[in-house]
Amino acid sequence: MLTVDRLSVAHGPVQALHEVSLTAERGRITTVLGANGAGKTTLLRTISGLHRAVSGSVRLGDQSLSRVPAEAMAAHGLAHVPEGRGVVTELTVEENLRLGALARGRVRPGDLDLAYDLFAPLADRRGQAAGSLSGGERQMLVIGRALMARPAVLLLDEPSLGLAPRVVAQIFALLKRLVTDEGLTVLLVEQNARSALAVAHRGVVLHLGRVVADRDASELAADDALRHAYLGF
Ligand code: ATP
Repeated sequence: MLTVDRLSVAHGPVQALHEVSLTAERGRITTVLGANGAGKTTLLRTISGLHRAVSGSVRLGDQSLSRVPAEAMAAHGLAHVPEGRGVVTELTVEENLRLGALARGRVRPGDLDLAYDLFAPLADRRGQAAGSLSGGERQMLVIGRALMARPAVLLLDEPSLGLAPRVVAQIFALLKRLVTDEGLTVLLVEQNARSALAVAHRGVVLHLGRVVADRDASELAADDALRHAYLGF
């Protein structure tokens, strides 16, 4: 279980997070929702060691991650897929996947099979340059690459951005399979609240850097007042 406890983060004079607490349970998808500027990206970047918190802590199980530098997070079981689907366009799909295993040392037998089994379009294109992939396939590739490090926790920042609803549904269904079959812990940041709540078990709503709701996803989706006030649907 990933535990965030009273985390406060500032960007210079701008306080982006105010004592944010949440947990992401093993084998579950927890989604963090909220408008632009709510602090979602700051939260993920702080968990993965890219920003230093002013106060508060992050733990994975009983180990503290608060002072672990970003480059050592993979060794502690954490993988972060940032917004933007950055792939190495000149390398092949398979070479990009292999890069993901470098974070952990080497490619082990079965690592590539897991990615190809989950994301069939990648298997068909394994020898093609990653630059030739569609947006949806690139999103699959960056998730597959993160999984190559065999993380316990996957942090995902806006994977649905700019993708067709059908592709989003496909990727989210694969995430669900991963948490169910592999016991992965997923913390999913989304502006697409409707789709995220449809796949997540738990939903946390951030507004101006504070948690304003933390409930079962189905309950959040059924709360008309909260949806209208914070989630835009
Ligand atoms: P978005 O979906 O637009 O990325 P978000 O919910 O992820 O929004 P953050 O990007 O975490 O929100 O931003 C939270 C607050 O911190 C905002 O007020 C933003 O302007 C501010 N902020 C973020 N990064 C910086 C930075 N590097 N320097 C100064 N302020 C920042």
